[in-house]
Amino acid sequence: MSEVLVAGGRACGVRLASGERLAADAVILNSDVAAVASGLLGQAIRHGAQTIPTKARSLSAMTWSLTATTDDFPLTRHNVFFSRDYAAEFRDIFQRGALPQEPTVYVCAQDRCDEDGPSRGEERLLVLVNAPPNGDRHHYDTTEIEQCAMQTFNLLERNGLKIHRRPDATQVTTPTDFDRLFPGTGGALYGRSSHRWTASFQRPGARTRIPGLYLAGGSTHPGPGVPMAALSGRSAARCLVADLTSRSTFPRMAMFGGTSMH
Ligand SMILES: Cc1cc2nc3c(=O)[nH]c(=O)nc-3n(C[C@H](O)[C@H](O)[C@H](O)COP(=O)(O)OP(=O)(O)OC[C@H]3O[C@@H](n4cnc5c(N)ncnc54)[C@H](O)[C@@H]3O)c2cc1C
Repeated sequence: MSEVLVAGGRACGVRLASGERLAADAVILNSDVAAVASGLLGQAIRHGAQTIPTKARSLSAMTWSLTATTDDFPLTRHNVFFSRDYAAEFRDIFQRGALPQEPTVYVCAQDRCDEDGPSRGEERLLVLVNAPPNGDRHHYDTTEIEQCAMQTFNLLERNGLKIHRRPDATQVTTPTDFDRLFPGTGGALYGRSSHRWTASFQRPGARTRIPGLYLAGGSTHPGPGVPMAALSGRSAARCLVADLTSRSTFPRMAMFGGTSMH
């Protein structure tokens, strides 16, 4: 979808990337909210949500999705291998705007349960390290990606986990790729950063400044993560239904069953 359509001050549909227009009584948007204020979804809704300054972006990531064998290591489904200086990692990311020199590494062994034993051959793995949300300003070239891979997989080896990577079975995703998937974010994966005690109150709710336009998803209240995003969807639906039945925000309409609900 490339634009939210507005007529008479209220959202009235969307225009797809193909140019096709779809009319609607209301629009629930679950792109990252940063795309609204940056005008990526049309100038008409730009004022609909608050700008998210680049300094307020949450973390991005460099990830390796791979199919590989590992040496005998008691991996469970979720595993975290900490760097020696966790604070330095965040100085690298937020002060230097750079990939961490020694990253903390998350490994999701998605074919395993928590109580699984050693590996039984090839399996699917997601390896993730935190990265700065600068995918819209910085190009990650092969050298930088390979250097990060060395630091990441060396740290795992020092901790006893050898992953036998095959280039033809490895997909790397950089902050630039995440920025492409989630426009307006620079690759930030968790909406607005959660630094400082006021951060939760700055996350937008479902209603926007534009009647008929609602927000849902990980960058809105109550926050990132699939369960939270699902709750935000409920909240958007609740607001929409409440407004739909209120005289103030929606035009008069005939309801099913012939009873006029204004
Ligand atoms: C690698 C990774 C690891 C993560 N780990 C964690 C974690 O450990 N804990 C946690 O809490 N959260 C984590 N998250 C974040 C979590 O996945 C999100 O908060 C959650 O998926 C948000 O769900 P959503 O439905 O809002 O959006 P998404 O699941 O992101 O779906 C939105 C979809 O809309 C598409 N889209 C955006 N703009 C447009 C447009 N203009 N037109 C068409 N399509 C568009 C996007 O491409 C995407 O497919 C992680 C995310 C990633 C990528």
